[in-house]
Amino acid sequence: MDLCDIDTIRAVLGRHGFRFSKSLGQNFLTDVRVPQQIAAQSGAAQAGNVVEVGPGMGCLTAELCRQAAHVVAIELDRALLPVLAETLADCTGLEVVQGDVLALDLAALCRERFGTERVVACANLPYYITTPTITALLESRAFERITVMVQKEVAQRICAQPGTAAYSAFTVYVQYHAAAEILFDVPADCFVPRPKVDSAVLQLTPLAAPTVQPQDEKLFFALVRAAFNMRRKTLVNALAPVLGSTLNKDEIAALVTSVGLDARVRGERLSLADFARLADAAAAKLGQG
Ligand code: SAM
Repeated sequence: MDLCDIDTIRAVLGRHGFRFSKSLGQNFLTDVRVPQQIAAQSGAAQAGNVVEVGPGMGCLTAELCRQAAHVVAIELDRALLPVLAETLADCTGLEVVQGDVLALDLAALCRERFGTERVVACANLPYYITTPTITALLESRAFERITVMVQKEVAQRICAQPGTAAYSAFTVYVQYHAAAEILFDVPADCFVPRPKVDSAVLQLTPLAAPTVQPQDEKLFFALVRAAFNMRRKTLVNALAPVLGSTLNKDEIAALVTSVGLDARVRGERLSLADFARLADAAAAKLGQG
């Protein structure tokens, strides 16, 4: 069965009385080359174990089952369970878990299902929960590779360089934990129903140790969030909500220049290494006070 063929999709879903839910981010792939390429590049064959988020009616799941011995597919929508039972009846090594990916303990799930074996994550994500899902996948520390289709702008944001409009606090968060790369773009007309936005397949390779190692990780991310909360302001002004109770504006300016940055710089121009140097200098200064 070609699970990306539009007539097959309509016939199967019609038989089960299924209706697409916009609020669950249900846009199913209609170009079989896309799930084939995602699965081939996901590392599923090498790892042998995969966790998929949101199998839908199973087009990517079927490709992953061809590549890997064990696939756990997490689907929130109960209405898709009988659909998947039909479309993936021939797949071996597959377990469909009904549940909300954000409510599950992914580290525990991987430990239970796969022990200490290698696991990758792979998904055409429901876009309304892209950021928390990527965060949960990274924080679980369970995956050696994470390959996900996301909105194109989100993929660009995650891979952005300092000083560009797309560079954000989430860019820094992801690049702190993983190497990020856009594999390929997927136009909106590859889905039913057709979404309003284009998509891209993003690959994250979690790092054994973070890209930079600030002494105080909490302070590092507090400074990053403050810098991007007021990205039009200078870094010195933007840091006041975090450092202002201990340091006055001149002291914050001195801190910024002490790590080799211009006192008028905006936070959006700082690299991860710049933020780490700033956080270490701030930690030292706050420790003195
Ligand atoms: N994998 C299919 C494909 O590529 O055609 C469907 C992808 S569709 C963009 C996203 C899927 O995620 C839907 O099946 C939707 O029901 C499911 N989903 C939505 N929210 C979810 C959640 N919180 N946890 C798990 N699955 C979810």
